[in-house]
Amino acid sequence: MSSDQIKREIDAQWLELSEQLRAEIGEAAFQSWIKPISVRDQDGGTVKMTVPTRFMRDWVAAHYVDRLTDLWSQCDAGISAVEINVQTDRHVQATPERADDGNTFGSARRIGDMDKDLQAKRDDISAPLDSRFMFERFVVGKPNEFAYAAARRVAEAEVVPFNPLFLYGGVGLGKTHLMHAIAWHIRQVTPQRNVMYLSAEKFMYQFVRALREQNTVDFKQQFRSVDVLMIDDVQFISGKDSTQEEFFHTFNALVDQGRQIVISADKSPSDLEGMEERLISRLNCGLVADIHATTYELRLGILQSKAEQMGVEVPPKVLEFLAHKITSNVRELEGGLNRVVAHSQLIGRDISLETTQEVLHDLLRANDRRVTIEEIQKRVSQHFNIRVSDMHSARRARSVARPRQVAMYLAKQLTSRSLPEIGRKFGGRDHTTVMHAVKKVDELREHDSSFAEDVELLRRMLEG
Ligand code: ADP
Ligand code: MG
Repeated sequence: MSSDQIKREIDAQWLELSEQLRAEIGEAAFQSWIKPISVRDQDGGTVKMTVPTRFMRDWVAAHYVDRLTDLWSQCDAGISAVEINVQTDRHVQATPERADDGNTFGSARRIGDMDKDLQAKRDDISAPLDSRFMFERFVVGKPNEFAYAAARRVAEAEVVPFNPLFLYGGVGLGKTHLMHAIAWHIRQVTPQRNVMYLSAEKFMYQFVRALREQNTVDFKQQFRSVDVLMIDDVQFISGKDSTQEEFFHTFNALVDQGRQIVISADKSPSDLEGMEERLISRLNCGLVADIHATTYELRLGILQSKAEQMGVEVPPKVLEFLAHKITSNVRELEGGLNRVVAHSQLIGRDISLETTQEVLHDLLRANDRRVTIEEIQKRVSQHFNIRVSDMHSARRARSVARPRQVAMYLAKQLTSRSLPEIGRKFGGRDHTTVMHAVKKVDELREHDSSFAEDVELLRRMLEG
């Protein structure tokens, strides 16, 4: 067959196959996502398809690639994979009839050449979205219900409900997940709206590049023509004055035009250090929603949902154990579960509490490390009714020396600090003093059961 013939053959197959998809997924989804696809080529067992934008590529790859692969291999048993790429300019020119087709972009509005250029650049700037980060996969609990509700509201609203939406919380608690979820949702329901998602770091990088290339007009235009702008981890531009300045202007321009802005950060606007006052006050203007540290219930819920998504049977005891032990953040929680599952699949054994402890011993230790020496000193002082300052003082009276030894002992047991580090935290004492304290407390515990109980009680309180 000549290459022309092959191309004609593929085109015919595509026509048939896309009709079948139209019947399966309905007209609206078909118009948005399948119609814009062009089939370029077949290379061995791989069919190469293109879509006009990066966002569409992500979406099609996340939602339709499996079905597309199935359908292609039903047409032609030699086909085993589908590759989705973003159409380059060359391709656009090669098929001018597509440029006149308003539906090419899954959009009701016609996109002129200028817009298309802008669109391409915007897609270039916007970061790809993680296909797992959708609302459906976000487990809602007390610590995040407000942030979740606010994010959903922004995603579903027809007019901007509050501007900006400012999401903040510690690392790994779901800020990025919620932002991507907003973007996915808007793209799905109203694909003609331009959503741009990027990190503050990338924003700065783009801005600096524009400055260097003396191309700030383009830069401004790209950002000021979006419908929804999402900037993740805005704390990154703290102390970066000219980037902040530019961001401030972009921000104002978009708000004035009634476009939605969504921002995330690790702290509340007022707590962001190195931010200009006027920017802080702008950030405070809309809705500020924080994501709190996870609770045991939320962690358990997340684990159950992840295990279900992975399609693996994990004993409830193991999930409870993980939810109890990995308290730092959801990312680590997920990582822990993944490791346990991977391990069991690799060695072909069921997941048990024992193997879990074995596989995760480093992670579990790192989470234990969360008890700080300061907390230990505070608790122990309270318990023995002495001043915290006595932990650091040179006083040797037994009434303060003994509690100090207990605190050193607990610091050794409950943290991963070395003896010299512990010594330093106790008024700059030598590591041999700490060693001696540990030995002494061990001895006393053996011979004095009420002392042993005291220490045990303190240990349990500190481990929470
Ligand atoms: P952040 O941006 O706040 O640092 P991420 O959004 O990247 O955190 O979340 C870290 C990981 O934890 C991601 O894989 C995310 O899917 C997951 N995650 C966080 N919160 C939840 C939740 N409530 N339900 C399900 N997954 C969550
Ligand atoms: Mg993040």
